[in-house]
Amino acid sequence: APLEWPTRDLLSHRASTTPDATAVIDADGGESWTFGEFDRRVDIVAKRLETVLTDPESVAADTERRLGVLMETRVAFAEVYLAAMRRGITVVPLNVRETVPELESKARRTDLDAIICESGTEDLALEVANCPIVSVDEPGPERDGVTSLSSHQSTDDTNPDPVPLERDRTHLLMFTSGTSGTPKGVRLTVGNLVASATASAFRLGVTPDDRWLCCLPMYHMGGLAPVVRSMLYGTPVVIQREFDPEKTARVIRKYDISGVSLVPTMCKRLLDAGWNPPDSLRFVLLGGAPATNEFLERCRAADVPVYPTYGMTETASQIATATPGETATHEGTVGQPLVCTDVTVVDENGERVPAGETGELVVSGPTVTPGYLSDEQTEAAFGEYGLHTGDIGYKDANGRLWVLNRRSDRIVTGGENVDPGAVLEALRSSPQVEDAAVVGLEDPEWGERVAALVVPADGGRESAGPGTIDLESLLAHSETRLARFKRPKTIAVADSLPRTASGTVDRDAVRAQLLESGTDVSDLS
Ligand code: ATP
Ligand code: MG
Repeated sequence: APLEWPTRDLLSHRASTTPDATAVIDADGGESWTFGEFDRRVDIVAKRLETVLTDPESVAADTERRLGVLMETRVAFAEVYLAAMRRGITVVPLNVRETVPELESKARRTDLDAIICESGTEDLALEVANCPIVSVDEPGPERDGVTSLSSHQSTDDTNPDPVPLERDRTHLLMFTSGTSGTPKGVRLTVGNLVASATASAFRLGVTPDDRWLCCLPMYHMGGLAPVVRSMLYGTPVVIQREFDPEKTARVIRKYDISGVSLVPTMCKRLLDAGWNPPDSLRFVLLGGAPATNEFLERCRAADVPVYPTYGMTETASQIATATPGETATHEGTVGQPLVCTDVTVVDENGERVPAGETGELVVSGPTVTPGYLSDEQTEAAFGEYGLHTGDIGYKDANGRLWVLNRRSDRIVTGGENVDPGAVLEALRSSPQVEDAAVVGLEDPEWGERVAALVVPADGGRESAGPGTIDLESLLAHSETRLARFKRPKTIAVADSLPRTASGTVDRDAVRAQLLESGTDVSDLS
């Protein structure tokens, strides 16, 4: 017989099997809750959400109920999330760092029935959508239009009918980071999330003393995934509101954290602050953006147990994860896909290419989204072998993956294809350069021109003053490494690269900076 699909939500299952085990720890306040205690808290929230969403004005009958969540990473976020899972309500996490127009667009596209906010995001919530706004904190008495969640008491004492956990129901509408354009709304089912947590356990193993720290924003998959894992595995999740190198290092030590997901910039900040990871720490999943070999080397030297990870919103986080051993023997790999996940490499016509050849990565398996919010986007993204990731890479004969860059990053100048990764590598090899981002800018003559935003290395600073770069010698450096059409024609210097919340380089912001302050160096090269 096939495995029974759990009919109850993950937390209530845990609450009946391991009620006294620690479920959640608040790293900021120090409080902790067992699965039994957390289950009761979530149950109260679940009933309150029912009264928020049964307001006849806010919900059309018989439609998917969608709840926006405009909150920072915190325990109350996990409560609302699990309460919504319990009631069959779709959660739409909203990025608190976004602007009103960005959030308005998301609220409009998802047609929210209500927004849950917190103290500090009430005004933003009121501005972005015309639906009930409910705060998990007590809003001030003069706060018009915002009610507190605790005021939504059901009038009778009866429990609402339990909602069965349906595997294929959309449970999360999670937005992508918007690295390559407007963030896309991704439908994730309960089945996707459970498959992801299960596959992750098969790669990393689970032991009773595991404790994952969640310090990535919960409005991204990397922040929410540890909550799902913890409910499934029955191990505690430690939730920290905001990543901070000193504080996070302290929390990792204090709570004997065994695993944490970080984007490369966070890990770098930890190391820059002199981080010395404790023995309890066995897994640092490093993903969201590429990590350079030099950086992985630096992590190894500092005894950071790095597991380079490739993942995306559309697969409820991890696609592939490499082990530290693999990283040493197979430079730059993100490892093999997780169990039940398949990655096929295809050429521009969608034909499968052999191992070792570069192409677009196409992913399939139980973690893959059934589709985007927009049917058009779904139509465009799915092909014969599954979901087209838009990422360019290759795999070896053992199925290990390398992710090189994105299809949309390719620059076409004068009919020539330029791989920005190759330009980046040439720039980075200059002692003047700490880091760089390479993009195409519109060019009346060439269609696109290669442009680079460059972060000077300290060495560059000493020789040419603070934050500057000797452009002539940088171009001389690139001349020996790059064909003429690949050399940057526009360069700007910055103290750091603009990044999205998930750590990827924000290419639109890079383009904007280059348009604003770039120097035309085509005469020099
Ligand atoms: P959008 O889809 O809106 O452009 P996004 O792709 O950045 O935004 P996410 O789903 O948060 O949104 O990020 C997933 C992407 O991050 C992957 O498709 C890949 O491009 C990149 N990525 C993740 N992990 C790695 C990695 N280890 N190496 C290289 N790139 C990675
Ligand atoms: Mg994407």
